[in-house]
Amino acid sequence: MGQKFRSELLLADASHTRSDILVSIGVICGLAAVRLGFPIADPLFASRRRRHRLDRRGVLRQADQALSDTARLPVPEVCAAALAVAGVLSCHSVRTRGTTSEVLVDLHIQVDPVITVAAGHRIAEEVERAVCARFPEVADVIAHLEPFDDYQAKKTASEKAAGLLDQV
Ligand SMILES: [Zn+2]
Repeated sequence: MGQKFRSELLLADASHTRSDILVSIGVICGLAAVRLGFPIADPLFASRRRRHRLDRRGVLRQADQALSDTARLPVPEVCAAALAVAGVLSCHSVRTRGTTSEVLVDLHIQVDPVITVAAGHRIAEEVERAVCARFPEVADVIAHLEPFDDYQAKKTASEKAAGLLDQV
């Protein structure tokens, strides 16, 4: 039981949630009780640890998805929603993250370089609204405004070449 017990104890200590602390105390008490000659104590605490481990797996899976770089939404569709807004000439660097029910999006949109800041800002806001409307699970959108020039066009082209903006 040595190795298994040690890894479970480490797992239980890895987080600061109340349930983790309780489990750690349980593990320590269980070990102490067994050492003191109460063989019944270990199975009792073991079942508690097992239940905790199952809870933890679900939490870990969620945390892993939320922290990973996996796109939460199809990038070409996000781009298409942005391009449907009048004044958006191109888009790239679309990133979506968060949980499946609360997605955060940021993207770069290019507009005519000679329009006013006010006009560009209006377009950016409209893009944010359009993406939210297209994907109800989106909690927040940040549209980064850029001039449509050779430099930005090259960036978009390289993302298209990498297959990130297919179908756009
Ligand atoms: Zn950009």
